[in-house]
Amino acid sequence: MNLQLALLEKAAREGRLAHLLLFHGGSALHQREVALRLAQILNCDLPTPEGPCLSCSACRKIFSGNHPDVLWLKPLKTTLGIEQVLAWQEKVSLRHYEGNYKISVIEHADALTLPAANALLKIIEEPPERTVIILCAENAEGILPTIQSRAQLVYFPDLSEETWLERLGEVDRQEAAQAFSLSGRNQNLATAILEHGVSLLQEWIRKFRIAVEEEDFLKLFSLFPIDKNQAVLYLQVMAVKAQDGIQKGTVHPFELLAIGKASDVLRQQVNPRLVIEVLALELFQQGGALCD
Ligand SMILES: [Zn+2]
Repeated sequence: MNLQLALLEKAAREGRLAHLLLFHGGSALHQREVALRLAQILNCDLPTPEGPCLSCSACRKIFSGNHPDVLWLKPLKTTLGIEQVLAWQEKVSLRHYEGNYKISVIEHADALTLPAANALLKIIEEPPERTVIILCAENAEGILPTIQSRAQLVYFPDLSEETWLERLGEVDRQEAAQAFSLSGRNQNLATAILEHGVSLLQEWIRKFRIAVEEEDFLKLFSLFPIDKNQAVLYLQVMAVKAQDGIQKGTVHPFELLAIGKASDVLRQQVNPRLVIEVLALELFQQGGALCD
């Protein structure tokens, strides 16, 4: 178990768990397992120093999904709509049946519609006593910022990311997660991004994109000077984004070709500024805005 999850369990045992948790990343199954264990810790009748006993009536009911104070909510269709949230809201505001804590686990919280998310927000702003809400999502970015800002974020790395993180040693986990995602799950690239600085890289790419969209040479000029290593790194990350965009149908394959060509030229010891300018020009001509 990683340190973050261990701390979470400790907080639950000591009765000082945050009212709202946002689980993101990793596998939905792992998120569910942790949510279930927290529910058991909070409601176990015979807790041990290591955690829930797993054999009392509360532990067993929670495990089988039959505990009246542990509510699981997941989308019935592709979205999680307002009707579902309102029905759930009613149950949350009822008094506790048998548990110490009322726990709600909202799976695929990134599928909440805007009205549903706003209804949820009302509960979050004034949570009933001894209530814990756990939002599970693949991506934290899919959650309304007003909800995100009220939640304690709990990031779940998957196995390949976890081994990568272990090798890195002490780093800012949130930043490492961003680097890993930007790299398209490529460990070497993720390490390079982290060493360079995630926000520096994102800022440069964002400005490059704006310069291309607006066909603005002045904005393009303000992106220099950069050295060759920087240029190689930026192009690699832009290629990952383009690949992603092509799969989603938001980016024309031409863009990936142009980025690939620029990377090849750069490897032949050409001035990085020249390569980036030529790439921008090619993208201007395609009228091709770099999309997200
Ligand atoms: Zn128990």
